[in-house]
Parts: sequence; structure tokens; C-alpha cells
Amino acid sequence: MIPYGRQTIEEDDIQAVVDVLRSDYLTTGPKIAEFEKMMADYVGAKYAVAIANDTAALHAACYVAGIGAGDEVITTPITFAASSNCVLYCGGTPVFADIDPDTYNIDPEDIRRKITDRTKAIIAVHLAGQPCDMDAIHAIAKEHHLIVIEDAAHALGSEYKGKMIGSMSDMTTFSFHPVKPITTGEGGMIVTNDETFYKKLVLFRSHGITRDESQMTCNEGPWFYQQIDLGYNYRMTDIQCALGCSQMKKLDSFIARRRELVERYNKAFADCKNIVTPYQLPDTKSGWHLYIIQVKNKDRKAVFEALRAEGIGVNVHYIPVYHHPYYREHGYADVNCPVAEEVYSHIISLPLFPRLTDEQQDEVIEKVRKIVENM
Ligand SMILES: *Cc1c(COP(=O)(O)O)cnc(C)c1O
Repeated sequence: MIPYGRQTIEEDDIQAVVDVLRSDYLTTGPKIAEFEKMMADYVGAKYAVAIANDTAALHAACYVAGIGAGDEVITTPITFAASSNCVLYCGGTPVFADIDPDTYNIDPEDIRRKITDRTKAIIAVHLAGQPCDMDAIHAIAKEHHLIVIEDAAHALGSEYKGKMIGSMSDMTTFSFHPVKPITTGEGGMIVTNDETFYKKLVLFRSHGITRDESQMTCNEGPWFYQQIDLGYNYRMTDIQCALGCSQMKKLDSFIARRRELVERYNKAFADCKNIVTPYQLPDTKSGWHLYIIQVKNKDRKAVFEALRAEGIGVNVHYIPVYHHPYYREHGYADVNCPVAEEVYSHIISLPLFPRLTDEQQDEVIEKVRKIVENM
């Protein structure tokens, strides 16, 4: 089976991890700050906080944004459930705005319609690496005094109007799960330009405990620390951060290869009347985490099953979050985003990862063309 996504781990990545295993610090050592600095520099943000995974990053972002009971946070239904679960962790209410039929990202016009006097934040998700319409989202946020969090699990290395994703909003979160743009096994990062958010994020990551005298009510001696907020153990290890540093050096080459593969797919499907290839918003550069096509005039389930039977590891990104029984049972039974429903009924993600070879991709193309055009 050719998978839809796969990590690229090379000898130098392995060596970076082994070096940490032979060192003094397995966690809370020097690799944390090194990885954070690489990320902050790369995306053009002032601060970066390494954290256990993107789900923890989103939880932390919602917490320091002050989301609590009674607060509404608007997000997209076409995402992984973590993008809205983080609001529930804080006692808030996710509100789903519909998506744009071309980009499949959250539709700013529907954000406007969903705003109430309880709305406190927007969580924008850059699906497949394609940046959301950030100018429109920031304009709405400014007008209504909302915090903007970007879930950039797919979008490390993506650009919006010449700016890196991670440089623009109150907080932006990343994932380093193996299928994502770079990997640390499990891992995540929050970037921000706001010092107050930064300090709160650092506390939240580690029990709410500080050793910084300026944050403590008193100091009883060199051993002293204080818990000044309620946090979690959401730390990343030095083992993971060393892998992250090693992977960061390769990120641009990973993205370059993804872009090459996307161009090959686009060319190969240009004449297929039953395939809608991904649309690209002007003035943006996607990091191409996923290659999502829409299959038209055919039964998506039959196409999906036929491709799997042929050894092509296709997937669907995503089932609208409010379809899940947990959401249905917690107040979302009547939610319906018509564009999201329509898009969901047609989408299939094809294999896309840096080490996919031209030969493997040609096999995918041949089978997709055969099944979608002739079946
Ligand atoms: C993968 C993913 C997450 C969760 O990331 P983890 O690091 O696995 O917690 C959140 N949001 C989106 C859009 C994702 O794709």
C-alpha cells in the first residue's frame, strides 16, 4: 500500500536523537530552546513554545486566550477534531462556520454570520497547507475584538502574501506528528509575538510552576519555585526536540519536493472531467501537506474502495467534526454547513509525501485516472 503520508527520517536525524540519549538531558535541556529558536526564526515570530503535541498547543492557546464557560469560538468543520475539542477543554462552545467551496477553508462571510456577543475567538485551520483568507479574518477580528488562533498543523512553511504562516496572528500552533510537514514522533509548537501570551503558555506547559523571581510572591532560597497557575505536564523531550532541529534543516527541501509532486498531479489530471484538482488562493504558497481532489459524477465510496483495493492508501480529510457522535450528543445534532457537506461527499486525499517517488506517483496517477474516468 502506498500511504497518503509518511515521515522522512534519515541517518542524521537518527544520529541527532542518539546524541541526546548519550547526553545529560533527556528532557528540559538545551534542545528545547534550540528547537524553539529555529521555529521562531523560520516563521518570523518573536516567541515559540515547544509543547507535547498540537492538541496540547491548541488547548494552551485557548486557555491563555481566556476561553471559558459561555464563550464561543468560531472554527471550521472540515478539520481534525482537535481544532474544536480545545474549546471544549476550556468549557467554551465551538461554533462551526461553513467553508469556501474553492479553498475548503473557513469562509469569512460565514464567520460574520456566526458572530454573537459571546464570540471571543476564531480558530482558522489552513487545510492541506493552503492559507486561509487571513486579511478578511483579521479584519473581522479587529472589528469584533476577537483573538485569532491559527491551527497550522498542515501549514509549516506556507506563505500568505509574502508572510510566513506563524508571523501574523495572536497565536499559531503546529504539529509534528509523523504525517505532518516535519516530525518529532509526537510534538507541537505555539508561536506568538505577544509577551504576555508567551509567559502564560510557558506556565501552562509545566504545571503553572515558575522559578522566575519576578513572577513569585516571595523567594525562600535557591531551591524555591511556586505554582502560580493551574497547568499541565505538556512538555516536549530533548529527544523529540533534537529530531525537530534536524528535521527543520530539511523542511524547505521537503516542501520543494511536495510542490513538484503537486505539479505532476495537476498536469496529469488536467484533462479529467471527473476530477477537481486543488484550487490555490492567489498570493499564497501552500506547503502542500495534503493533495485533496474532488471526485465528480461518480460514487466516492466506490472510487475510494477501488483505489484501496489497488494498493493506493487514499484517505478523506475530513469528516465534518459535527458529524461525530460526541458532538451530536452535545448540542450539535442540528448543525449543518451545506458547503462542507457537499465538499465532504466528493473529497479523497491522494498519497503525497517527500519520499514518494515519480514511479510510485505515476502508478497512483494511472490507477486514479483508470478508476475515476472509466469505472
Ligand atoms: C494533526 C492535527 C492536529 C493534532 O495534532 P497532534 O500533534 O496530533 O495533536 C490538530 N489539527 C489539525 C488540523 C491536524 O491535522
